Amino acid sequence: MENCLFCKIIKGEIPATKMYEDDKMIIIKDIDPKAKNHFLAIPKSHFKLLAEMNEEQSQLVRHCLLTIPKLQKELGLENGYRLVINQGDDAGQTVFHLHIHILSGQKMGWTPA
Ligand code: 5GP
Ligand code: ZN
Repeated sequence: MENCLFCKIIKGEIPATKMYEDDKMIIIKDIDPKAKNHFLAIPKSHFKLLAEMNEEQSQLVRHCLLTIPKLQKELGLENGYRLVINQGDDAGQTVFHLHIHILSGQKMGWTPA
């Protein structure tokens, strides 16, 4: 997608701190961390919502979910972590390319603020 920030990061047109990359996904550091460690797992296909996902894209998301736990050490997830997928306005989604937030490195509360 032409004007998508994450498509541009995937293509290397905008710099990001890459923690991991393979043919299906990248994991980068979030530029504005909301926890001590905050990464974004981004499938290499442009779609906004889980509700819009096709079969091939669902395989990419599956791959992300299988890969994240394998990177426990590299990402510092040993004491636990939280995955968040913001979907739409109420969730505050700001980048319309599906991504999985990976939050860790501290105890986390449970408030939707
Ligand atoms: P959303 O609100 O769509 O769920 O999450 C978008 C995330 O992308 C936010 O946590 C925001 O900090 C992050 N973000 C926005 N612009 C950039 C950028 O240019 N580089 C990186 N690495 N993260 C970004
Ligand atoms: Zn995109």
